[in-house]
Amino acid sequence: MDAIVKTFPGQSETRPTREQAEEAVRVLLRWAGEDPQREGLLDTPKRVATAYRELFNGYELSPEDVLGRTFEEVSGYGDPVLVRDIPFYSHCEHHMLPISGKAHVAYLPNGRVLGLSKIARVVDIFGRRLQTQENMTAQIAGAIDKTLKPRGVAVMIEAEHMCMAMRGVQKQGSTTLTTTFTGEFKENATEQARFLTLVRNR
Ligand SMILES: [Zn+2]
Repeated sequence: MDAIVKTFPGQSETRPTREQAEEAVRVLLRWAGEDPQREGLLDTPKRVATAYRELFNGYELSPEDVLGRTFEEVSGYGDPVLVRDIPFYSHCEHHMLPISGKAHVAYLPNGRVLGLSKIARVVDIFGRRLQTQENMTAQIAGAIDKTLKPRGVAVMIEAEHMCMAMRGVQKQGSTTLTTTFTGEFKENATEQARFLTLVRNR
């Protein structure tokens, strides 16, 4: 029995119990046409509930905590720092079906730099929430902007949406591309072009 009642960050609803979550999975199994009492499905609600806690644990983590408030000081390095091809998985908020893709994140340091693994962790936190690709792109840029206060941030996400690939539209293999630019990346066309070149030239 899950007795812990937790309020999610930014949400007023309290979390349902594990029993309630497992019962909801049984309802969906019946909705799909299955018999939840079939032997192969007996433990499925338990597994799904556990998997959801892992796949959506981004609600329990704050990007600000990961990025921290202390950064490495660098003097004299003003060129972009780019982390390319960060793989991620997420779920679309419209169908709760998987999104898989890669994020490319760059920033222009303002005397301070981030540990490189932290950028990948921020991508992971936002990925482990229900998302639209547009929002996720903006959220990654916003979190880095807010904590590191660089001269600019550029984020590009290339992703495939299972709700497009598997459902009626059947656009298998098609990827959606989104970008967000802030600061000098937004204002300066040369910086923007340099980012796009760095991402593309692999
Ligand atoms: Zn969708």
